[in-house]
Amino acid sequence: MAFYDVLVVGCGLSGATSARLLAEKGYKVLIIEQKKHIGGQIYDYKNDAGITVHKYGPHIFHTKIEEVWKFVNRFTTFSNFQHRVLSFADGDFINFPINRLTVNKVFGVNLTSEEVPAFLQQEVEKSRFNNPPQSFRDKVVSQVGERLYGLFFEKYTEKQWNCDPDKLSPDLAGRIPVRSNNDCRYFADKYQGMPTHGYTKMIENMINHENISVLLGVDYQDIKNELQPKLLVYTGELDKFFDCKYGKLTYRSVKLDFQTLDQEQFQPAPVVNYPNDYDYTRITEFKQMTGEKSSKTTICYEYPSAEGLPFYTMPNKENELLREKYMQDVHSLEAQGKHLFIGRLAEYKYYNMDMAIDSAIKRINAWTL
Ligand SMILES: Cc1cc2nc3c(=O)[nH]c(=O)nc-3n(C[C@H](O)[C@H](O)[C@H](O)COP(=O)(O)OP(=O)(O)OC[C@H]3O[C@@H](n4cnc5c(N)ncnc54)[C@H](O)[C@@H]3O)c2cc1C
Repeated sequence: MAFYDVLVVGCGLSGATSARLLAEKGYKVLIIEQKKHIGGQIYDYKNDAGITVHKYGPHIFHTKIEEVWKFVNRFTTFSNFQHRVLSFADGDFINFPINRLTVNKVFGVNLTSEEVPAFLQQEVEKSRFNNPPQSFRDKVVSQVGERLYGLFFEKYTEKQWNCDPDKLSPDLAGRIPVRSNNDCRYFADKYQGMPTHGYTKMIENMINHENISVLLGVDYQDIKNELQPKLLVYTGELDKFFDCKYGKLTYRSVKLDFQTLDQEQFQPAPVVNYPNDYDYTRITEFKQMTGEKSSKTTICYEYPSAEGLPFYTMPNKENELLREKYMQDVHSLEAQGKHLFIGRLAEYKYYNMDMAIDSAIKRINAWTL
């Protein structure tokens, strides 16, 4: 007889959250993880210079969801870090997302907060776009006009997705945050910060429970026929679970180039976007996020790429249709009560960390044996 009731595939945030909640309900849980470390995409570690870096790209925790905030605070405290991004455009560092300071700098005006909305409205009215929006471009231009779209979004999006923004889904744009005031924070959520001892430690605390065991370096594909859990929580790639029988879902990846420099500070903000110049999309300076002190600094350049680990789901019609096919099979399996597909890979869906936790909490709470 197996020593566990539940098998969780993947030890990222979705797997760890699910495992913890099931363990607290009294189930014996085994987590298998193909990588040699826990944490999945949010894995961080201290490098040789003693600076905490995020192996798979910078992660900032932010949420409006009270229940999620309470949940993560059981496993870590958070610094009071408020994320800030500048965009390097027209040879200058400009506040991003767009706020009053951005508008004044780009257009060479001196508007008050009250005047910003009407000014942007005029910008939109001067611009050409389909209404209702048919594409990413239409969606952004309909909110901020062609000038700001061209400066901050157009080329960045082209680099990120290697695709004309006119061909990308309007859903990718969502609501563009525009502030009439001088608020320079990247996120407006009530709760935000960085876990005091890092994300890996937070995950370690989450899975530290007498009912949870973890096996690293084990790929589910290699052992799937040997296992018969009462419940399988799968957080790996959706298409791979079904041996890609309908075809492969595609992802956009990112090549990360980490460099440690012999200087205290490199750039004027934790993240600087490069929408128009260079092949990289942004540079992160980790010390500015973690608040660590050092005479050195570690930065990371991000180069979007078609090759590599699955980072971002590709927002196009082909993938949407393919996802639908796989999700029909998922629903049939889940209806039998022995499978749950949870997380960004298993649902082929972009989830922020808080959304991943929120979804795992809801799915696990709704499940009964
Ligand atoms: C570049 C980047 C930056 C981001 N920045 C932010 C941010 O600033 N703020 C924010 O809120 N969110 C951010 N996110 C989103 C965040 O990374 C996700 O919400 C989170 O990682 C979701 O966790 P997950 O467990 O669903 O997926 P993952 O972390 O990918 O975990 C899945 C795990 O399953 C394992 N696995 C897969 N297949 C198998 C298999 N066959 N056998 C065994 N194990 C398997 C994988 O190795 C992985 O460890 C960012 C995402 C990216 C890509």
